[in-house]
Amino acid sequence: MTKRRLIILVFFIASFAMNGLQAGEKIKVLVADGPQRAHKYQETTPALIRLLEDASRFEVDHSHSSLESVEDGSYRPDFSDYDVVVMNEGFGAADWPEATQRDFEDYMANGGGMVSVHAANNCWPDWKEYNKMTGIGGWSGRNEMSGPYLYINDDGEIVRDTSPGRGGSHGPQHEFEIVVRDQEHPIMKGLPPTFMHGPDELYDRLRGPAENVTILATAYSSEDKKGTGRHEPALMTITYGEGRIFHTILGHHVAQIEEGSFVTTFLRGTEWAATGDVTIPVPADFPN
Ligand code: ZN
Repeated sequence: MTKRRLIILVFFIASFAMNGLQAGEKIKVLVADGPQRAHKYQETTPALIRLLEDASRFEVDHSHSSLESVEDGSYRPDFSDYDVVVMNEGFGAADWPEATQRDFEDYMANGGGMVSVHAANNCWPDWKEYNKMTGIGGWSGRNEMSGPYLYINDDGEIVRDTSPGRGGSHGPQHEFEIVVRDQEHPIMKGLPPTFMHGPDELYDRLRGPAENVTILATAYSSEDKKGTGRHEPALMTITYGEGRIFHTILGHHVAQIEEGSFVTTFLRGTEWAATGDVTIPVPADFPN
């Protein structure tokens, strides 16, 4: 081996070691779901697992917080076995046991990864730390006590609006444009400045602690579609201690999850939440 090749090899190994992953090692993902209302996790969880497995960058486990296991406290996955937890919990999910909540907070604060998919920002309005991780959320009684509305105005300024009112709503499903707001972020690099998604639910009026949030992309919530007339956050990252979160409002059901716009942003967002870096390419025909 020449000296030059050796240097390249050492550099290559070092760049993986920085992420806590060995060269060629797969990212370990836990997809977490549980009983909920309004969304068919029994169908969307297998769809999310399929996407991750097809990308061949991930090794996936599934964890289900059954009602019995949260009530008797036996629901206690070992989060430290995973590089990232994909939350497919949703509206009406039962609270995780206290000890499991503390485990998850420690895991995230110490550099864990989380992906919040669509309705995962609907559950657990009273779990303070979880709401810091999602940044903003909706429904389940969220209001001005949950924190400000977060959106971007027509001048491109980020607004934290503390006015009173419900958190979370959406009009009828329709196709909408996603506008990239941070072209240089690793998740967004190489994506076109705008692209279409849907028909899907365009979540608006989300509110929460809204701390340490980077808005990667917005969707305009049109008043014609019973929306707010605001540019609503559609893709975000949040930091929580040393932990990284990717938050997508997209993906109501299987058809929406299988759209190219969801697939690419979800896979790249999951990789980033796990490692802080993105190697999964943007397909040439994105978002088709
Ligand atoms: Zn939905």
